[in-house]
Amino acid sequence: MASSNSKNTTQAGYGYTHQSLRRALLPSAYGKPCPHCQQPMLPGQPLDLDHTADRTSYRGFAHASCNRSEGARRGNAQRSARRTWRTSRQW
Ligand SMILES: [Zn+2]
Repeated sequence: MASSNSKNTTQAGYGYTHQSLRRALLPSAYGKPCPHCQQPMLPGQPLDLDHTADRTSYRGFAHASCNRSEGARRGNAQRSARRTWRTSRQW
């Protein structure tokens, strides 16, 4: 039964790869339009390396504020759904 172990390994490796890849690709992102707001991404602005929903590949850079507002909205929806589920599960 090693199925639960592989998940932890993937998560740990993802963090390191993401950090180094982000640093390597960041200079090439400057001057390109943000996929969320279409404004150019400039040096000095906080940028996030945006990834696909399943985290298997990268879509490219986006403003951190744009990227996180989209992610936060998604996270809030999941959180309230989970809370509703838990509240309804009173024995
Ligand atoms: Zn943006």
